[in-house]
Amino acid sequence: MSDAPNLVVTDGAGARQALADLVMAWARDAETGEPRYILELDAAHRGAKCGCECPSCGKPLTAVNAAKSEFLRRPHFRHPEGAQRDECLVLAARAAALRQLQEDGWLDLPRRRMSARVAGLSGQFHEAWVEEAPVRIRISQVDYRDRATAVITLDDGRQVQVELTGTPGDPAKLSPSGQPVPTIYLAIDDPQLAALAPEELRRRARLQPNELCWHAHWNDVELLAQAEAAARARAHFYFDDIPDGLELPEGLDPALRRETVLHHEVKRILAEVGRLTVPEVTVEVEVPGLDGQTLHGRWVEEEEELRLVNVQLETGYGRLVPDITAEAFGDDGHARHLPLLIEVTVTNPVDEERLGRIRATGEATLEIDLSLAGGRVNRDELKHLVVDEVATKRWLFHPNLEWQRSALLGRLAKQVADEQAERESRERWLAERRTQVLATPVSEVGAEYLDAVMRMLDIRAAGGDADAVRAARERVADAADKLGMHGYPEAADENLVGHGAILSRVLSIMLGRPVGYRFDNLMGVLNAIRQTSGSRLSTLSIYFIAAKAYPPPLSAEQRAWFDAW
Ligand SMILES: [Zn+2]
Repeated sequence: MSDAPNLVVTDGAGARQALADLVMAWARDAETGEPRYILELDAAHRGAKCGCECPSCGKPLTAVNAAKSEFLRRPHFRHPEGAQRDECLVLAARAAALRQLQEDGWLDLPRRRMSARVAGLSGQFHEAWVEEAPVRIRISQVDYRDRATAVITLDDGRQVQVELTGTPGDPAKLSPSGQPVPTIYLAIDDPQLAALAPEELRRRARLQPNELCWHAHWNDVELLAQAEAAARARAHFYFDDIPDGLELPEGLDPALRRETVLHHEVKRILAEVGRLTVPEVTVEVEVPGLDGQTLHGRWVEEEEELRLVNVQLETGYGRLVPDITAEAFGDDGHARHLPLLIEVTVTNPVDEERLGRIRATGEATLEIDLSLAGGRVNRDELKHLVVDEVATKRWLFHPNLEWQRSALLGRLAKQVADEQAERESRERWLAERRTQVLATPVSEVGAEYLDAVMRMLDIRAAGGDADAVRAARERVADAADKLGMHGYPEAADENLVGHGAILSRVLSIMLGRPVGYRFDNLMGVLNAIRQTSGSRLSTLSIYFIAAKAYPPPLSAEQRAWFDAW
């Protein structure tokens, strides 16, 4: 608690005045122990006969100017020469505050907070706080016991001891009845209060509950019991205690106890909810394909919500005692896993030895890894983690996995073999064709080629449909391929076989009719040849040679035109 005084200052001018003449206006009656204000003294108690002493050092005090109506320095109590210490003013201020409290007739009791900690099975501590609310209580009597203590009797007869010093008292100090007296500290360290008149004190300062600090309280025993119960409830919330009705073997390690508690809880949840979402199962394989390629295969069984019946705790299964066993069915009612084994990991991961036993069962085994949830699972989270969450689950063993893997590998191996066989068959066919083509005279192959080109050009010029054009192009490509084997790879050149290209023009001249052109007669073709420009000009001489070898059937007029050209 801070030593700073917490004053409610209601009058700024009054505060400045108090600072100006900080004197001791309060003392303690040497006989009754009550705080005395300087102006309360009657005629019989003036000067050295005032009968007052310092509440701090206990030295006899002298009342100065108490009876004067005019004075240079306002009335105050004076210590024997040189005896006053700062602490005397502070304690006089506290006594004054206590008197104000008495005259107000009520006390704001501060709140009382108590905490308790209990150790959980995990070794972690669970802490809880309880609180008795602040309350305003009527005062019926204040009894000033000694220089540092006052006992306040409340309206209901209960008593509170107020320690005026700020230093801790002796908590073991007992009341005459043998019970610890509830004690609060009064933490007012503002010496200015020592100079204030009672009315001014009441006007300017109100004791706030946070100036009072409980040292002991009537309800301490009950509050502590409540705090402990709350701390135990927290431990229970985090599965860190042994629930009622669960019998555990003596001498079991605390970590194992906690694990057992969680196994019981998970089993209880699964039996109650009767369902559980399991993560997907995936198999991925790779096999080398032809030409350095890699073939990938993948099999997935999607994440699925299973219905559970017959949920059992720690039933032996071969050499394995799984944490939980159940029978799992799909949404369609078909059996999925009979049984499904469930391992609940709390702190220790499943080791190789246990994994070996799991595989040996050949049964689907699911792990629920609660350690992934940070090790501190609570009752709100556990049901979600167990039932719906998949991030905390994995398959330790899945019976479909191995045969799905070998099925994938088999399928991919067959694909590679099929591709290989197809490739070999094609190569064989190509070799046979080559032998056949080379055995055919090149003139025969050339005639087949020209015939194919002419047909294709005619079909195109006649506006044949796409299928007919494609078939004609394929025949040209086939014939060009054969010529290629005979050493004429240029036979496939588009400059030769394309629309309006060399062969189209030469064949027109040879046959005396348009081939590949939509003209009525040869003159149209000759005219088109005449329009030739650019790089194709270099082909012109070919057509003149063709015209010489196969003179075109022309009228006299056309002949004159051609000769002039
Ligand atoms: Zn003193």
